[in-house]
Amino acid sequence: STVAQQSTVNDTKRPHSLKTGKKGELNDELAISHAAQHCLQQGSIPMALQPMVMLETEEAFGFEALARPLTTEGAPIPPHRFITLIEHMGLMVQVGELLMHSAFAVAHQEQLAPRGLELSLNISPCQFAHRGLADRLVAIAKQFQMPMDLLNVEITETALVTNESVLKDEITTLREHGVKVSLDDFGTGLSNLNRLRELPADAVKIDGSFTAALTEQRSRLIMASLANMCRDLGLDAVVEGIETESQRARLQELGFQKGQGYLFGKPKSISVLS
Ligand code: C2E
Ligand code: MG
Ligand code: MG
Repeated sequence: STVAQQSTVNDTKRPHSLKTGKKGELNDELAISHAAQHCLQQGSIPMALQPMVMLETEEAFGFEALARPLTTEGAPIPPHRFITLIEHMGLMVQVGELLMHSAFAVAHQEQLAPRGLELSLNISPCQFAHRGLADRLVAIAKQFQMPMDLLNVEITETALVTNESVLKDEITTLREHGVKVSLDDFGTGLSNLNRLRELPADAVKIDGSFTAALTEQRSRLIMASLANMCRDLGLDAVVEGIETESQRARLQELGFQKGQGYLFGKPKSISVLS
């Protein structure tokens, strides 16, 4: 199976201990660990697709694949919590392979490529722990007949220490294949100006917290500067978390052209027919 081909557990990045504080959190970890094992056995993880649109026309140019993990009892697990724990458990390489596979399966079923629509995949820097992620991704894309120029990789944030030189090399390889690389949640945490200077990226996805604060003049000025910066650097920008018409109008005034958010479409769960 595809999982067996890349079954190296990322032990080197495993922290000495997990913060477990409350009793509930410990159960939570157990539940998530069981869920991950279950997904690995099943060979897939439920996925949702959310449209990424041109602000002016609301026309979708692509879709972002978002994991929709479930407990073994079928209860939803918050995706960010799931990913963070998987990273800490040292399972991100294995589970990441499954996430990539599931995302391509969903994109294939929804016929994104034949309709000229991009597929945007979230990849954790932990998945770059070993060389070969880029080649692996390109191979799965070919298997699902997804052209490289319709593929977009969103580098997500991680609190864990990662191998920056491998990350940089793999990103370079991806871009050589024609895959676009975006920095996700740009403007918050570790997705910052330093990251942008260090990593060769094609685009940024500007964090939804900036959109939520657009009523403040100060935030609008920051966003205006970000729009200029992207233009100067030749970076594509997608603004996240757009929920209202006035946010959309303000972002357009500031010079942004692309966005994503509930205003245009919520993530829609897709069940893959087998
Ligand atoms: P992200 O990649 O920044 O994804 C965008 C998040 O914003 C998604 O949360 C989406 O449901 C949510 N969102 C979209 N539009 C709106 C809006 O208008 N308002 C608000 N308030 N939220 C909106 P979700 O699905 O809970 O995912 C959370 C995070 O989990 C993702 O953030 C990403 O970092 C991570 N994640 C999800 N799937 C994957 C995956 O397959 N691989 C990896 N590595 N990370 C994933
Ligand atoms: Mg993302
Ligand atoms: Mg984001």
